[in-house]
Amino acid sequence: MAQITRSPKPYDVCIIGSGAAGGTAAKILTEGGLSVVMLEAGPPLDPARDYKEHLWPYDLEHRGIGVGGKLRGELNSEFLAPNGAWDIDGEPYVSAPGSTFRWFRSRIVGGRTNHWGRIALRFAPVDFKSRSTDGMGDDWPITYEEIAPYYSKAESYIGVFGTKENISSAPDGVFMPPPPPRCTEVLVKKACDKAGILCVPSRMAILTKPLNGRAACHYCAQCGRGCVTASNFSSSQVMIPSAQDTGRLTLITNAMAREILVGKDGKAEAISYIDKTTRTEKRVNARAFVVAASACESARLLLNSRSRLFPDGLANSSGVVGRYLTDSVGSSGAGYFPQLAKVPPHNHDGVGGMHMYIPWWKFDRKNEFLRGYHIEFYGGRFMPGAGDFDGVCEEYEGYGAPLKQKCRSSYGSYIGFEGRGEMIPNENSYCEIDPDVVDRWGIPVLRFHWRWSDNEIRMARDMQETFRSIVEAGGGTFQSKAGDGSGPHPYGITDGGVIIHELGTARMGTNPKTSALNKYCQAHDVKNLFVTDAACFVSNPDKNPTLTILALSWRASEYLLEQAKKGNV
Ligand SMILES: Cc1cc2nc3c(=O)[nH]c(=O)nc-3n(C[C@H](O)[C@H](O)[C@H](O)COP(=O)(O)OP(=O)(O)OC[C@H]3O[C@@H](n4cnc5c(N)ncnc54)[C@H](O)[C@@H]3O)c2cc1C
Ligand code: SF4
Repeated sequence: MAQITRSPKPYDVCIIGSGAAGGTAAKILTEGGLSVVMLEAGPPLDPARDYKEHLWPYDLEHRGIGVGGKLRGELNSEFLAPNGAWDIDGEPYVSAPGSTFRWFRSRIVGGRTNHWGRIALRFAPVDFKSRSTDGMGDDWPITYEEIAPYYSKAESYIGVFGTKENISSAPDGVFMPPPPPRCTEVLVKKACDKAGILCVPSRMAILTKPLNGRAACHYCAQCGRGCVTASNFSSSQVMIPSAQDTGRLTLITNAMAREILVGKDGKAEAISYIDKTTRTEKRVNARAFVVAASACESARLLLNSRSRLFPDGLANSSGVVGRYLTDSVGSSGAGYFPQLAKVPPHNHDGVGGMHMYIPWWKFDRKNEFLRGYHIEFYGGRFMPGAGDFDGVCEEYEGYGAPLKQKCRSSYGSYIGFEGRGEMIPNENSYCEIDPDVVDRWGIPVLRFHWRWSDNEIRMARDMQETFRSIVEAGGGTFQSKAGDGSGPHPYGITDGGVIIHELGTARMGTNPKTSALNKYCQAHDVKNLFVTDAACFVSNPDKNPTLTILALSWRASEYLLEQAKKGNV
């Protein structure tokens, strides 16, 4: 029988995962005086070594797109912070027949907060009450008013820029001043004004002023590759160091949690994990557990934690773990603007991402679909990446000076538009444990089932129509590969998981028969178990989820702290 190494003493809390949710929990719990052990499946991160935002494509082998350009167009690690990928060697997942689901995972301290786009939007009051509003999906067990103070705490601590706009679908927050718009953004803003569409400064977790020893952004525009000055938010550079400063955090890296073990009293008492470095199984004991491995990994861990008391997996007497899986609705298009081709080259620097965005603006009318979407847009003369001129070279014959001239005039003349909309949970979209496939550590993997409903497809059609109207109002020519309502991607709707906003797999609620967690992210079935990542979400509004993950994890951790001090967990 394999030997299992046990930790000598129980910690107050064991946190699984060091991303947005885990990092926040570590900060609050250690600062509150608890001893915390954190298991992280990936290696440690050294920003000076691992982040690459100041590298030029020509500094990299094959300009960063791999042998034969095979990584072209992919989110690949050469142009991204390390250890984030669509596929991880030895750690597969499965899409069920007839379904396509893509799952972007990060295995490193800080998780996907090293890679994210830093768009930090609050959910609106109506987002927590969707069933009461239109009869579909379910209401959250909390209101906007209950979470608002935690949005403010998170924004104040991490730093988010934006402006007060008083738009009911996009509540204002605690904002730093935004950077000024670039010329492409001014063009879109004017087009939106003509088309009667809102366009406002974006809201991103990037510092425009120094904060808590972190420098303001120096506008290198490469946030997805990390930030050595910690000017954008990552859990690895903002949350984990605060927890480490308390001296109460034990961070165990390369530790892949396999199963949560329960005692005779039905409480979680230990976690079994694989030490990837020694390939041995180890065990750590704690008085409470915070599962924060990201929505689907957390569902996987719970479903793999079967026991006599919990034969269907931990915290799953309701059967909802893995269910209610959603992602954002995505569809994209672009505009060619001839007037931009004539703009002389000029400094187009800024943050890594948009300085303006289009919040959901049709909230006050009847639309052909329920719920809403926002639009992100990008363009201009950023540092070109490898492959940026492929399209021009395909379109124009020739070589030498005339082709170079075409590349120069086309570069920066396009603006891309990306819709991000709300998906309503449906019974055909969920994840479960695959009965046959295990990863390289012998841990059963997830199998995904996925189907968009007509509501999302109608929304994607509306996105395409809106992109066209903005582009045409701006004097451009609309270009889109989205196609019509036929085929596997009607109106260009992305595959499930592609927008990397997967959530809902252990939702909260008041009824233990229809939800896994209460409104503090605490398992109905196991009172010393909390799930504080996006697994707990009840719905997936058009806003990107991470600011809400931070706020909910902050709130749940304060509650856990209070309960621990009263001896209630
Ligand atoms: C390219 C990109 C752009 C994005 N842009 C945005 C954006 O602009 N705005 C936004 O709101 N969101 C965005 N997101 C999504 C955002 O990154 C996630 O919502 C957020 O990071 C989720 O936080 P989390 O703590 O739940 O999980 P993660 O950040 O994924 O962290 C989970 C951690 O748990 C670890 N882990 C997993 N399983 C185990 C296990 N069994 N044992 C131990 N450790 C484990 C992982 O290694 C990882 O470090 C983006 C994501 C990507 C990749
Ligand atoms: S744009 Fe700003 S926040 Fe982003 S990587 Fe560069 S300095 Fe950091």
